[in-house]
Amino acid sequence: MGYAYDDQNIFARILRGEIPNKTVLETAHSLAFEDIRPQAPVHVLVIPKGKYVSYDDFARNASEAEIVDFVRTVGEVCRMTGVALDAGEGFRAIANSGGAGVQEVPHFHTHILGGRGLGRMLQPA
Ligand code: AMP
Repeated sequence: MGYAYDDQNIFARILRGEIPNKTVLETAHSLAFEDIRPQAPVHVLVIPKGKYVSYDDFARNASEAEIVDFVRTVGEVCRMTGVALDAGEGFRAIANSGGAGVQEVPHFHTHILGGRGLGRMLQPA
């Protein structure tokens, strides 16, 4: 997959307002919205507004302001959706990356999943 950013990926189009989304939270550098095919009662995607392909791309190349904003947005989404550990039952945060990680959309995103027991993290290979 590499780090070459595809401006036509679906999340780039969402960020440009070309495709609608169900926004949960928008901040200066991040957008959180409902996954279109939810796999749990809570299934929200958090993305940076910047053009980063994957978690490792974001971790290496994003500014500190973008990184702080993103991590705080994940935390706020957990609070808003009721899965945060202060009041809720917990959640799973997943960032599929590249081919082995089976990343379908090549714009970095973290899935926040919760609202039910999620089972073990991985199936046996
Ligand atoms: P991944 O396999 O980690 O790249 O996951 C991509 C996710 O994006 C999947 O869970 C899809 O259901 C979700 N998705 C694809 N298109 C849209 C869309 N237009 N709005 C919201 N979620 C989407």
